[in-house]
Amino acid sequence: MIYADNAATTKMSETAVKTMVSVINDDYGNPSSLYGFGQRAKEVLESARDDIAGIIGADPREIIFTSGGSEADNQAILSAAQLGKKNGKMHIVSSAFEHHAVLHTLDKLKKEGFDITLVDVHENGLVIPTEIEKAIRKDTCLVTIMFANNEIGTIQPIREIGRICRDKKVLFHTDAVQAIGHIPVNVNDDNIDLLSASAHKFHGPKGVGFLYAKKGIKLSSLIAGGAQERGLRAGTENVPGIAAMAAALKEAAPRINETAAYLAKKRDRLIAGLKEIPHCAVNGDEKNRLPSNVNFCFEGIEGESLLLLLDDKGIQASSGSACTSGSLDPSHVLLAIGRVHDVAHGSLRLSIGEDISDEDVEYIISSVKEVVTYLRSFSPIWRDLEAGLKEHIL
Ligand SMILES: *Cc1c(COP(=O)(O)O)cnc(C)c1O
Repeated sequence: MIYADNAATTKMSETAVKTMVSVINDDYGNPSSLYGFGQRAKEVLESARDDIAGIIGADPREIIFTSGGSEADNQAILSAAQLGKKNGKMHIVSSAFEHHAVLHTLDKLKKEGFDITLVDVHENGLVIPTEIEKAIRKDTCLVTIMFANNEIGTIQPIREIGRICRDKKVLFHTDAVQAIGHIPVNVNDDNIDLLSASAHKFHGPKGVGFLYAKKGIKLSSLIAGGAQERGLRAGTENVPGIAAMAAALKEAAPRINETAAYLAKKRDRLIAGLKEIPHCAVNGDEKNRLPSNVNFCFEGIEGESLLLLLDDKGIQASSGSACTSGSLDPSHVLLAIGRVHDVAHGSLRLSIGEDISDEDVEYIISSVKEVVTYLRSFSPIWRDLEAGLKEHIL
């Protein structure tokens, strides 16, 4: 099996598993308990916080543990909105290709009277900092732009956007779930006020993540209860998960550039190989993207059929046009970069991991070529295109 869906989730690293099991077995105390055994769990928790903070250039007191990326996104955005509302600032700037954890939170705020501006995402999958600058108003309380897109992998000009927000004194949140552990991120250098991350996207466990909030930003709590996480996130901490998350990040951080360079070579070969298929297009800028991400549209096919046939060949991939909740809507990300519905339906996302070999890469290329040709051989849309009854778009 070739697992090429690492943007959906990753396999836990051996170190992360070992750390998790050891905390489960040996440090199962409640970190809020005052006796020594509880305090040992507290030490595990705080050393994880120190490690994570150190890696992203934060102070440990700026890290709040959450149940994952979605919760961190919700808490960051709702906190900034609440702060804004107090000061009569009810305008938020974001983009159309954010993760649903961001977009649906913004929908909620819209219903509460907030005004949301979504800046354009251009054909290359990038937002333009000056357009964000133009969108910022006197009543803007937050700019939220993702670090790297989960479907097309494009890496946004975060440092410049952060600089603009600093100058304009507007809070800046970034959903860095796809970036943390994969490309260097430093909250100071990148001018970030609020950042979301999720362990299962960087070889840690599912159901755990963190929110970074710069000192001085008053977060609101989503969950009422005990005083855990300095009263900002009630509930007994997921100590084994948090320890494993820190272990995974500690493992990735020192070799982040090396891993990125290794993966980028495989990615570039995949892109070059798949481009040989007629009437296809790469989604998102070819170079300014995550080293693990390949995303294509193929004319005249259905992404879902492509996925199922690739699965038969032992390749696990994803279609950008995720029929989430059974709807046939194509991916909001592909529509945001200007792909028309028909084309957006024929998409393929490969998100590779370090375990991929050159043989795997060649096998993926030949398999996709074969499956696309096969699917086109009985596609009515393809027949019309080939007969000249319809114009090729790609
Ligand atoms: C996966 C993902 C999330 C959600 O994280 P969970 O930990 O699964 O809640 C949010 N944003 C992006 C960009 C993601 O890729």
